[in-house]
Amino acid sequence: MAKVQTSAGVGVFPEKQDLRIPGPTPVPPAVLRAMSRPMINHRGPEFAELLGRVTRRLQSLMQTDRYVAILTGSGTAGMEAACANLVSPGDPVLVLEGGVFGHRWAEIARAFGAQVHRYEYPWETGADPDELARRLRATPGVRVVFATHNESSTGVLNDIEALSRACRETAPDALFVVDSVSGLGGAPLAMDAWGLDAVVSASQKCIMAPPGLAFVALSERAWRRAAESRAARYYLDLAAHRRLYEKGQTPWTPAVSVLYALDEALALLEAEGDEARLARHRLMRDMVRGGLAAAGFELMVEARFASPTVTAVRPPAGVDIEAVRRVARQELGVVFSGGQGKLSGQILRVGHMGYATPLDMIGAVAAAEMALMRLGAPISPGAGVAAAQRVWVEAGGAGR
Ligand SMILES: *Cc1c(COP(=O)(O)O)cnc(C)c1O
Repeated sequence: MAKVQTSAGVGVFPEKQDLRIPGPTPVPPAVLRAMSRPMINHRGPEFAELLGRVTRRLQSLMQTDRYVAILTGSGTAGMEAACANLVSPGDPVLVLEGGVFGHRWAEIARAFGAQVHRYEYPWETGADPDELARRLRATPGVRVVFATHNESSTGVLNDIEALSRACRETAPDALFVVDSVSGLGGAPLAMDAWGLDAVVSASQKCIMAPPGLAFVALSERAWRRAAESRAARYYLDLAAHRRLYEKGQTPWTPAVSVLYALDEALALLEAEGDEARLARHRLMRDMVRGGLAAAGFELMVEARFASPTVTAVRPPAGVDIEAVRRVARQELGVVFSGGQGKLSGQILRVGHMGYATPLDMIGAVAAAEMALMRLGAPISPGAGVAAAQRVWVEAGGAGR
């Protein structure tokens, strides 16, 4: 086994940890400071101003004129809210399932009594719009189609614009509902222009705020469907949220501190600008993919489906991926995610979303390489780092 001293610093600075996972993601200092502000009356004027500003910022991020409900809960609460408001017991629905989060749509829809049809696409690719059209023709009467924008369990980015178009053309009465929890902010999404009927997201991924808030926006026809839906709901009743929003309030006490943080985080996202932010995420993706491939890892997803926010890789032959993760975390202070579902123990996932820079990706690739060396894998030190740097240089160098 190679003698590599890797533990320098770790333990000395216990708070210094590189969180390279697909959420929760690192939070900028200004966002953390915002969390320490005193409480305010959530039925008072300061709160109304805060809620209005955050809602407008979310609308801009989602590229929608529709109301965006802010729910206290994690992203799954937003997914459940979509089902609780749009699905009636017995409704036929079609779920696009290519990973753990697509599967979650199926489970939630089933819990609400939907008759669930699944289009299972391979975990290494995105869903195919033509195949979606075929499935919709073969299953008449589908009321809702559930899709995942960015499948965090595999690192696949779906072509939501094309899938939404295929859905609209083939089944014009079906609502097209999108989980963009790990996409919004890091990958392009245009709710109105793409004709999406519902978009769900959350605070703790690309938006770089702490966990605790979920967002749900509905199209006008989705609001009409919600008014007819017979599913039981109370806390997650979106109509109650919209009603109270008229008064500058939420129906129940919200996570006020997370709202402060979200306000600050969205201001930072705005200051960077959409184009620069999306380009930064693409660059981080390309650096991580180029770097890890050069270090000997196998990319799970081909380039055209590669997510700009999370990358999954398999280990070099003979290497235990869980050992790589353990060395990186315990000895280097870099936290990677493992596989979920049927990929458990087989892959490593690198989060590159939110408060992260290209230079952080050099560190992530270096950590993965150091861990391989520490485990005695035959690698040439620095190959991955050099490849990641080359990607960066070719993209114009240290542009920040
Ligand atoms: C993180 C995530 C969710 C929500 O998970 P929570 O733990 O409930 O916040 C949903 N979908 C995707 C694609 C995600 O990455």
